[in-house]
Amino acid sequence: MDCIFCKIVKGEIPSSKVYEDDKILAFRDIAPQAPVHVIVIPKVHIPSADAITPDNSSVVAHIFETIPTIAKSCDLTNGYRIITNVGEDGCQSVKHIHFHILGGKKLAEALG
Ligand code: AMP
Repeated sequence: MDCIFCKIVKGEIPSSKVYEDDKILAFRDIAPQAPVHVIVIPKVHIPSADAITPDNSSVVAHIFETIPTIAKSCDLTNGYRIITNVGEDGCQSVKHIHFHILGGKKLAEALG
């Protein structure tokens, strides 16, 4: 499968890693939209949040259990935003579920 994030998991494409364990990986976004912009992904390929099921949701729970650790390691002590884009209208460009962690400044209130 031609998935950029699967290639990052396999080490075929380099990334600036900030966290890794056996199930998930977090790395700096290549085109940051805030002073801190980290992408968190499961190592297993799940196309988007629209494809979360009872069979694969435990890794998504693990991502959310780990985000506070990742945020602390990036010095996001004053808050941050978690975003996941879904599909065409959500402007999802990489079809491997991922969670953007954005922070390091006061973010704009507008979400859409
Ligand atoms: P989305 O538009 O929600 O699908 O977000 C995909 C994100 O992945 C964008 O913010 C891209 O800048 C980022 N991205 C794409 N390729 C890479 C890469 N090789 N390394 C790090 N981030 C990437």
